[in-house]
Amino acid sequence: MIDLSKYTKELSKLFSASENILIICHINPDGDSIGAQLALYHYFNANNKRVYLLAPNNIQEFLKWMDGSDHINIFIKDRKKGRTLINAADLIIMLDFNQSNRLGEAEDCVMASKAKKIVIDHHLDPADFADLIISDPSKCSTSELVHELICGINGGQFMNRSYAEALYVGIITDTGNFEHGSYSSGTFRIVADLLDEGIVKEKIINLIYNSFSKDRIRLQGFALNQRMVVLPEIKTAYIYLTRDDLKEYNHVKGDTEGFVNMPLSIKGINFSALFIEKDSFIKLSFRSKGQFPSNEFASQYFSGGGHLNASGGEYTDTLDNTIAYFLKVLKENVWRFED
Ligand code: 5GP
Ligand code: MN
Repeated sequence: MIDLSKYTKELSKLFSASENILIICHINPDGDSIGAQLALYHYFNANNKRVYLLAPNNIQEFLKWMDGSDHINIFIKDRKKGRTLINAADLIIMLDFNQSNRLGEAEDCVMASKAKKIVIDHHLDPADFADLIISDPSKCSTSELVHELICGINGGQFMNRSYAEALYVGIITDTGNFEHGSYSSGTFRIVADLLDEGIVKEKIINLIYNSFSKDRIRLQGFALNQRMVVLPEIKTAYIYLTRDDLKEYNHVKGDTEGFVNMPLSIKGINFSALFIEKDSFIKLSFRSKGQFPSNEFASQYFSGGGHLNASGGEYTDTLDNTIAYFLKVLKENVWRFED
């Protein structure tokens, strides 16, 4: 855990000195990235600051009900507007990522901007790509970290309903509804404050978790039934999906979210991987139990990264070759698994 109070003064100064603030989430934004982005947005709105929102690419349907989400500009949908927002900003706040390539197509423009740049994130080992990097991997979510920073700047609790809903989404999605991740007693104290603000947790949980399409649920059944390979001898299971599989089940963005977690509920399985065949590469997701550093595995072999127990990367080859390579390098690393 880091002492956040050392950032309070600097952030306050930067916030009050800035007239055009731009908040950016990462590519393929998850609930935490969008939750942290919208929480900050509601905080700045309550303080009458001019603030704009940008996402490198589309946000998923299950997050679109969130207050303020319709103000998020999508870079790949309107690049001209995206560049204008980046160039006009005097302060850029980047949330929930530790490498500039998570800005997707917006990376070059953001990196070339003269604006002051802040990163607020909870992934390990942030790269040096901003003027101020506030990184606390002990936090369960960037949303939790944003809230603690805002309360510091505010000189006490800051809260309103839209802000509370955004934080709640960030916290539940990054902890798998309090199943994993580094949540703490402090997380529950924050959640208690969110409930006191009047958020309706059943409504939010329904909007986040119970809003799948019929095709998505059938794809899940197919993936588990036909595309999961279990290798008990190396405590690993993986799922692969081809482009044709995805087409057959009318796949839309976000449909495979969460699939990689499922094999970990098999007794004795400590490591899980998901291979998704894209047009020109294979996208991989990894999950581990215990101390196996899935993020090191992702960065060493698959140009990726992430957290200790949840990470991802990519590989440019056929699906078959990628799986063969995965098994080869995994077998070299099994000694790192705990019993
Ligand atoms: P997911 O498997 O849910 O897509 O991603 C899990 C975690 O891995 C996220 O925290 C995300 O930051 C990280 N991650 C996923 N894909 C990549 C990637 O291609 N590069 C990096 N650096 N991190 C990734
Ligand atoms: Mn996060």
